[in-house]
Amino acid sequence: MQRMFRTLRTLVVSPALIAVLVTVPTLSAQTSEASAPPKFRLPGDVVGPLHYAVDLTVVPDQDTFTGAVDIQLNFKQSTSVLWLNAEKVKVKEATLTAGGSTVPLKIVPVDKDYVGFVFVNPVGPGQADLHVSYQGEISRKDMQGIFQVKDGQVKDGGEWYVYSQFEDIGARRAFPCFDEPGYKVPWQLTLHVKKDQVALSNTPIVSETESSEGMKTVKFAETPPLPSYLVALTVGDLDLVDAGTAGKKNTRVRIVVPHGRGGEAKYAAETTPAIVNLLEDYFGTPYPFDKLDEVAIPLFGGAMENPGLVTFGTSIILVKPEEQTLGHQREWSSVAAHELAHQWVGDLVTTAWWDDIWLNEGFASWMANKIVNKYHPEWHMDISELNGYQGAMDNDSLVSARRVRQPVESNDDIANAFDGITYNKGSALLNMFENYMGPDWFREGVRRYLAMYAWKNATSADFLTSLAGSVASFAPAFSSFLDQPGVPLVTVALDCQGGEPKLDLTQQRFLPLGSQGGAAELWKVPVCVRYPVAMCVLLDQPSLQVHFLPGTGCLGWIQGNAGADGYYRVLYHGDLLGDLLKNDARALALPEKVALIGDISALTGNGKIPLGQALALAPGLARDPARQVVDKTMQITKGLQDNLVSPDLLPQYHRYLEDLYGSRARALGWKDRPGESDDDRLLRPSVESTVANQAEDPEFIAQAKTLALAWLDDRKAVDRDMVGSVIMAAARHGDQALFDRLRAAAKQEKDEDILNTLLFALGSFPDPEIAKKALPMVLTDEFDSRQSLDILFGVAQSQKTRDLAYDFVKQNWDALIAKLPTDYGAFLPDVAGGYCDDAHRQDAASFFEGRSTKYSGGPRNLAQMLEGIDLCIAYKKAQQPSVNEFLKSYGTGPSAAGAR
Ligand SMILES: [Zn+2]
Repeated sequence: MQRMFRTLRTLVVSPALIAVLVTVPTLSAQTSEASAPPKFRLPGDVVGPLHYAVDLTVVPDQDTFTGAVDIQLNFKQSTSVLWLNAEKVKVKEATLTAGGSTVPLKIVPVDKDYVGFVFVNPVGPGQADLHVSYQGEISRKDMQGIFQVKDGQVKDGGEWYVYSQFEDIGARRAFPCFDEPGYKVPWQLTLHVKKDQVALSNTPIVSETESSEGMKTVKFAETPPLPSYLVALTVGDLDLVDAGTAGKKNTRVRIVVPHGRGGEAKYAAETTPAIVNLLEDYFGTPYPFDKLDEVAIPLFGGAMENPGLVTFGTSIILVKPEEQTLGHQREWSSVAAHELAHQWVGDLVTTAWWDDIWLNEGFASWMANKIVNKYHPEWHMDISELNGYQGAMDNDSLVSARRVRQPVESNDDIANAFDGITYNKGSALLNMFENYMGPDWFREGVRRYLAMYAWKNATSADFLTSLAGSVASFAPAFSSFLDQPGVPLVTVALDCQGGEPKLDLTQQRFLPLGSQGGAAELWKVPVCVRYPVAMCVLLDQPSLQVHFLPGTGCLGWIQGNAGADGYYRVLYHGDLLGDLLKNDARALALPEKVALIGDISALTGNGKIPLGQALALAPGLARDPARQVVDKTMQITKGLQDNLVSPDLLPQYHRYLEDLYGSRARALGWKDRPGESDDDRLLRPSVESTVANQAEDPEFIAQAKTLALAWLDDRKAVDRDMVGSVIMAAARHGDQALFDRLRAAAKQEKDEDILNTLLFALGSFPDPEIAKKALPMVLTDEFDSRQSLDILFGVAQSQKTRDLAYDFVKQNWDALIAKLPTDYGAFLPDVAGGYCDDAHRQDAASFFEGRSTKYSGGPRNLAQMLEGIDLCIAYKKAQQPSVNEFLKSYGTGPSAAGAR
């Protein structure tokens, strides 16, 4: 799954449903003790499913559906109560048949997550059949369970389409079931839909027969064993675009789009077979399912790997051929490769429980990077992935960071499990150990793992055992990163006395300034250095001395993370960092350079490098020809105006940024140039934005405003991949007249991506009076609230308007919760995430505690936001002096800006 902010789960039962459920007969005294629902997990040692048959009647634009589920049960022991997961499901009738006779039962209503069936006489051990008929909800607000969205792109007024999203715990809204990934059994679905509509599920259709009153019955083939979260369906006036066949079994591929949008599926149709073929090559086993439909869902922020019915947000999968950009091609290829990799890792082999979800998500992310790198090496997705790894390291340095294998003991834990640690750290660990053990060795292990656990569930231990073979040190080393949080900081020291170089390595947990964490963790770190060739050693103790082969000699430098494949930060002892930078042009590969800049930035965060010193190093790096290096320097140089630069030094700070990026921004300009390189096209948005919004260059600001106005009159006036940069730069310096024009444009906008840009821009005007007009739009019906929330976060991002966004959330909490999709409350504390002072920290803690923490994942989200403020306060205090000292001397020195 790829999840963005907009696809969250729902756990709150509707009041209407509670009212209905309490009318079910209450239990007798002797059965009430057994009738307490499970605390969290279903009792797997008592009963489990063998097979499901699901029969649903689904009509778009209706708010409910009717359903029946037949579950073949295996009672492992005798019991008088059966618990299933169910949510927002109104059970009408249930019967249990065991040993040829019907067992009398009573339905136990629970307000959330469960439904119980209490038998008058105990049932089991042995098999039995449960039949349940019920009514469920087709949500218009949430994108979990079975939901509907309108597509207004083609038909005016829009048309409703029904889709499903069951991961993580949404299947229980579609049918009472054992809604845990470990219950992996075959499913057979039957859908009753309108005669002229299309109904799809995971497997091919086996029969389609007309029934009464304009309806038809669509019966699907039985699935291979699947967990509940992978079952999927879609219904509506859909168009199917043929994308040929893929893989060794010539599997049929189709792109499924809202009516009339087939022309936008061209790129997805062209690329999917190639991606499937590359995956087959790696896994050494054919695409596991009988068909491959890729479904475009309007308004959906993420993507989901349902076997045979993979879903994507329309903005990811669809693009008008004339509006296609390199950015879109890269995003689509990467997300598609991730979801398609899941067909093997996740679908064919499924994680046994949510605590091992990195085996799905980290694995699919790692695999996607590998595939896209092979498909389009010139895109350098490995550097994008590396930036993802470094982002995970930032999160991993928090005391409130999750472990990759964090115990999952509540629905909050399930919600939190889909985070950067699972995706990016999980992927980084696979990358690190693949490089340490060798790619061929690693691939053979992956193939053994898939062969051993095909159509079954697996755990981290299963995975590590499959790979390790006879290498006893592998699993303990890998586990040292899975089972404890944190990033190792490896100190590299070189002693060249007597002409015999000795390398001293030490490790400790990387902790930022102000962190309350201890540094007791010890990892078994595969450390690879280049001196001058790559050499690896397992650093499995606090410190280790390494001797080089005789005759290696003394070099002037050492590189501490060869290929940047290690999941650790490097601290160079003494002058080693300076020596390395002196040699950078010939000594450092692109990923090594990018990782080094990330490490320098991180080391300012833990106080090992003064930020002023890092700012002095940045110009040399920002002159690098590689766009990825230029972009990475911005991690050090940008965004200091709010908390670190004193107001009187702002002109010097602007001049510093101008010196670093101004000439490159002028050379690139705001518009594509014929024949330019992909790298130029990819660098353009960030340098133009930086010079306009961070260096506050009046010339660039004026250009952005002119272009924005021209774009409002004619969409061809700005290249598609620059629309965001232009609109944002104009809004950040815009007035009421521009606000009115952007608002009017947003009302007419049908393109989801552009609408999101416009809404975020509406929240980005610097004038507080404008922000006050923008905020209430979140609570009106002017825009879909899933999108208009961007306005709120736009207002919250700037120091000038942040208080307004924060106060708005505090004053309108109940209205926001009522308006927004369920569980969005867990993310609202993010409006306070930009604060960097004690008073706001205390105020936010007391306001959100007991409010945002009621929603899935809320407690950890709040803890991480508050820890971020604490660290910012410490960082500001420690680094402000060196920044201002640097800028003071910068202000008096000679400027490269003369080159303008
Ligand atoms: Zn995924």
